[in-house]
Amino acid sequence: MSTDHHPPKERTAMSEMTIEAVRPTTESMTSMTPSIDEPPVQLRLANVSKTYSPKDGKVLDGIDLDIARGELVSLLGPSGCGKSTLLRMVAGFIKPDEGRIEIAGANITRVPTHRRNIGIVHQSHALWPHMTVAENVAFGLEMRKVRRNERERLVSEMLEVVGLGGFDRRLPPELSGGQQQRVALARALVIEPQVLLLDEPLSSLDANLRVYLREEIRRIQRELGVTTIFVTHDREEAMAVSDRIVLLQHGNIAQEGSATDLYRHPDSLFIMAFTGALVSFDGVVEHGDVRVDVGHFGLAAAASVPVAHGDAVVVAMRPEDIGVASSDAYDTVDALRFGGTLDDVAFLGTSVEARVTLSTGQRIEMRLHPRDLSTLPPVGNAIDLQVDASHLHVFAA
Ligand code: ADP
Ligand code: MG
Repeated sequence: MSTDHHPPKERTAMSEMTIEAVRPTTESMTSMTPSIDEPPVQLRLANVSKTYSPKDGKVLDGIDLDIARGELVSLLGPSGCGKSTLLRMVAGFIKPDEGRIEIAGANITRVPTHRRNIGIVHQSHALWPHMTVAENVAFGLEMRKVRRNERERLVSEMLEVVGLGGFDRRLPPELSGGQQQRVALARALVIEPQVLLLDEPLSSLDANLRVYLREEIRRIQRELGVTTIFVTHDREEAMAVSDRIVLLQHGNIAQEGSATDLYRHPDSLFIMAFTGALVSFDGVVEHGDVRVDVGHFGLAAAASVPVAHGDAVVVAMRPEDIGVASSDAYDTVDALRFGGTLDDVAFLGTSVEARVTLSTGQRIEMRLHPRDLSTLPPVGNAIDLQVDASHLHVFAA
């Protein structure tokens, strides 16, 4: 594993501690030889399922997921969708009912937790309050019988990496919540884990600190090149830190991709709603046309999932894709046009929020770039809006 923080000598010592069961064989390494642009798979879940109680059904249902070496993948989804369950299986705290888990090509499905080389950070840091920061961080190294002077060096190096240089003699209760999470991160990273698991590591912290620390996690993850699963129910957090987002729903992967993929090309209304704000209308497909109560547009021009004539649909759009129609606008299948009354405008500096009541009585919110503020009529006046069909998502109702 490539790390900048451990000089080659330590790296040898660390890899001697890597237990046989999870160490990739030369053969599997060869078979996984990466091309330059495609790093090898570091973590593989193949058809992994888990049921806690038969009456509740499958919590995870045949999950297939490959994570590349050095990749940061967010597991995103509503509370109870199985994110922690998936993480616990990678850690070895629970066994899958079916399926296979591999790290660096080695099957670890039945390998006990203490023989997996994995770092974990939980929502609540779970530091030992009576042990110093250095002792907390050194714990995993002691378990692995790393010699004392080497241990001290690795610990102080890792405390530098997480921005806590000089804090080694403090006790956890003498630290802020954010600093405690940094200690937890150092403790997870110092063993040079093959996979780092972060289970909502920021959710116990206040909003400003969350934003700051997520950037720090990203920086550290890149610096060390550690393969990471970041569990969160916060879409913005997932979008900010991830190479790839995996969105779970009902025990399945609803969609995976970059933040841009999920936001701009959602496969379902659930995904669209989970990744950001939206405005939606009920409608029906009539031949090549989609009719909603405020207007119509051509299906072929829409960003859409396949639907057929007669289907009831939901037409959804992002608030920032709704614009003020220009005065010379004419009716076309390439756009949806509708009118209403401008109720309220809020200037937020980087954006402008405008609330409009449509002729149907539906109230919607649109978001403009501040440079377009002058396109709005005075509050209380009629307003004509339009959305390019390419920004209209059509989903089966
Ligand atoms: P998430 O982390 O996405 O919030 P979890 O993986 O913790 O979800 O839980 C998924 C589902 O499995 C939930 O319905 C939860 O109640 C259930 N569950 C989790 N752990 C257990 C357990 N040890 N025994 C029984 N049910 C559990
Ligand atoms: Mg959880």
